[in-house]
Amino acid sequence: PSTYRDKRVVILGLARSGVSVAKLFHKLGADVIVNDKKETCPEADELTALGISVLCGYHPDDLIDGRTALLVKNPGIPYSAPPVRQALDRGVEVITEVEAAYWLSPAPIIGITGSNGKTTTTTLIGKLLEAAGKKPIVAGNIGLPLCDAVEEAEEDGWIVAELSSFQLKGTSAFRPRIALLLNLAETHLDYHGDMEDYIASKRKLFANQESGDTAVLNWDDEACRTIAEELSSDVLPFSLYERLETGVCVEPPYSRDILTERAEEPRRMIVYRRSASEGGETVIMPVDTLGIPGRHNTANALAAIAAALAAGAPPERLARPLELFKGVEHRLEFVREHNGVKFYNDSKATNPTASTMSIRSLKGPIILVAGGLDRGSDYMELLPVFQGLKGLVALGETKEKLLRVAELAGLANAHSVNAESDAEGTLKEAVRQAAALAEPGDIVLLSPACASWDMFASYEQRGSIFKQSAHTL
Ligand code: ADP
Repeated sequence: PSTYRDKRVVILGLARSGVSVAKLFHKLGADVIVNDKKETCPEADELTALGISVLCGYHPDDLIDGRTALLVKNPGIPYSAPPVRQALDRGVEVITEVEAAYWLSPAPIIGITGSNGKTTTTTLIGKLLEAAGKKPIVAGNIGLPLCDAVEEAEEDGWIVAELSSFQLKGTSAFRPRIALLLNLAETHLDYHGDMEDYIASKRKLFANQESGDTAVLNWDDEACRTIAEELSSDVLPFSLYERLETGVCVEPPYSRDILTERAEEPRRMIVYRRSASEGGETVIMPVDTLGIPGRHNTANALAAIAAALAAGAPPERLARPLELFKGVEHRLEFVREHNGVKFYNDSKATNPTASTMSIRSLKGPIILVAGGLDRGSDYMELLPVFQGLKGLVALGETKEKLLRVAELAGLANAHSVNAESDAEGTLKEAVRQAAALAEPGDIVLLSPACASWDMFASYEQRGSIFKQSAHTL
């Protein structure tokens, strides 16, 4: 870090992460210039107050000069942008926030990525390490910018970082001591173009890992297993369905066949298994005492346990925080019971795979409220779970597509809400109609299978309006 004293560091892109990177390099004594071509930069005030130069509204021609030692760019800015090209021409190193955080962090990093379950698993790892006295700082895509975490981190602590494929795109030397890949569903195809590109950016998480580093991988996900073959790190797998020789799994394993599984419901244990010489089998806890509901959340718990064990947490300290953790807001969150009907808010389920998981995890007849931004996902993926629904109220850009799937599923009680004067009114009306279809013992579930931006500012706003609508029925 001392090597940046008095060196010129240019930060390109003034989002929240840009502010965090600028402050970090400023603290290290670097001569920081922040530049964004957008006209209004509300974030600028905070930086100028610290004496950091901020240039907004254009890219100056001489932004990169002979004194520039480093360029940190937002991953959204292409390598073809003029300042990036100028830097590369002059031999100036170009990096992103995640890379900078890795260079400067005194603490080792646990990196978590995947299509679904990132926030839940990241939060859980934070709780497990906290209970084990390992001083974790939870950061990344989840809230606290990574470079803010770097400032707070201690040598004997951990940075627990939720990473999107977007953030991983611009890394080069980034080497998390522990890396988790939770699953690979076909999401974000609009951004990445195709699945291969998406997998490639996820793979970058492991690119610099070496023997002694840990790769936690979902053994139930074919694409994750394939990645394992090419790694130099120590692979620690987790599985719901297989009795692993080494790894974190469920004993007895679940059956992938739903019918067999309903027939026998033994009490399942979460176990950590190693070779006999390394300690054999350790029972962590019974599955049914986990605080978070649903099979997908059990998978998230297995992943979090694997990471905590790899970070040196004692196995006997894990059960308590796993019982206490009740999940994160907007993720299969229980809202209320009204006239015998339970309401759940799963607004964060922004793709068909996520909604499938949630629908599968709730017991009882479900009236689903779904629909939103059309990102070109394959909504037919929802067909099997739609066959088990009691009703569907569809809204948003994808409502017709969802109704078509409902029709194929033979679901009689399916209709869409006509747009009211505003988005809030439309969702309220959807909740009212879903509640009208429900009888005591039923569940009304908001699990949209789509992003929210066709109608709402964010999935949080959508979830909050749903909760409010349920509370005021
Ligand atoms: P992310 O941060 O990756 O978006 P979250 O932990 O916020 O994931 O969960 C978002 C939604 O994804 C949940 O509400 C649930 O419907 C679904 N989900 C969570 N974990 C998994 C998983 N392991 N597999 C599939 N779907 C999941």
